[in-house]
Amino acid sequence: MPWTEIALLVPDSLKDAVSGELSELGAAGLWENEEAPSGHTRLVAYFESAPELEALRTILQPIFQSEGLELPELESSRLKDQDWGEQWKKHWSSFPLGRRFFVVPSWSDSTCPADRDPIYIDPGQAFGTGTHETTQLTLEAMEVWMEPRKVVLDLGTGSGILTIAARLLDARHVHGCDTDPVAIAVARENVERNEQSIGLMCGSIDAIASKSVGFLLCNLTADAISELLPDIQRAMRPHAIAVFSGILTSQGRDIRQKAGPLGLSVLQERNRGEWCALVMRNNGP
Ligand code: SAH
Repeated sequence: MPWTEIALLVPDSLKDAVSGELSELGAAGLWENEEAPSGHTRLVAYFESAPELEALRTILQPIFQSEGLELPELESSRLKDQDWGEQWKKHWSSFPLGRRFFVVPSWSDSTCPADRDPIYIDPGQAFGTGTHETTQLTLEAMEVWMEPRKVVLDLGTGSGILTIAARLLDARHVHGCDTDPVAIAVARENVERNEQSIGLMCGSIDAIASKSVGFLLCNLTADAISELLPDIQRAMRPHAIAVFSGILTSQGRDIRQKAGPLGLSVLQERNRGEWCALVMRNNGP
C-alpha cells in the first residue's frame, strides 16, 4: 500500500497547532525537520490514507489566518513501499485507538495511559497499523457489538492488530487468517509481542468450519466481501455478528443487497471519511 507524504513550512509558533490537526486527520507519523529558515520548522506528515489537499487547506487555513499569515504551500508526494522502508518507523508514534486501546509501535518507548490497554505492533510489510479508517471502524464496531466469550475470526488479519484487540476484549478463542504468508508471519510476531494466544492460518474463509464463528471481523474490499459473502455466512453461527469494512460509502448499498438474500441483516452502518463499515447479524440457517 503506497503512503503519502505531506510537507509544509510552519512558523514555530504554529507548529503544535498544525501538528495537532495533522494527527487528528490520521497522520501515522510526524517528523519535524529543522533544516528550515530560522523560527520555522518543516513539518513532514506520513499518511496511510491521505486527506484531499483541498480539504487539508480548508482545515489548516484558520490556524494561519489567526496569526495574519498566508497558508504555506503543501507539498504532497506518494511514497513507494521501498522508499518508506525502515525510515518511517522513527516517526510513527503511539496513539489511542477506539475507546480502550493505545497502539504502541514495537520500537517505541511510549507508555500507555493507565486507562487504556496497549497493543504493541510492528506492521512490517503487512497492512494494519491502526491508523487507517477501515481498521478503526472495524475495531470500534467490535468494541460496541461483541459480547464476551465469543469465538472470533479475523478474515484478512494483516498485522494481526484486530485479533489482539479481540483477545483483550475477552473473546474465548481468536483465529486470524490471511492469504498472504508475509502477513501471517508478521501477525505471528505481533501476537507473541503481545503475549496472546491466537490461532493464525495462511488461507481464507473456505478453510473455516461451517457454523463455527461467533463474531467475524472482515476488513477487506467491497469486491472481496461480495465474492466471499456466501462462504462467510456459511461459517457464521446462527445469530452471529459480522463487521464488514473496507467498503466505500458508495459501495455500501451493493453489499447490503447481496447480504440480504443470504439472511444477513444490517444492524448498523458506521461511517468515517469516505468509508463505511456494516455490522450484520446472521439470521440465515
Ligand atoms: N485486519 C487488518 C488488515 C486488513 S488488510 C486491519 O483491519 O487493519 C486486508 C488483509 O486481507 C490483507 O492482509 C490481505 O492480504 C488479506 N486478504 C485479502 N483477500 C483475502 C482473502 N480472500 N482471504 C483472506 N485474506 C485476504
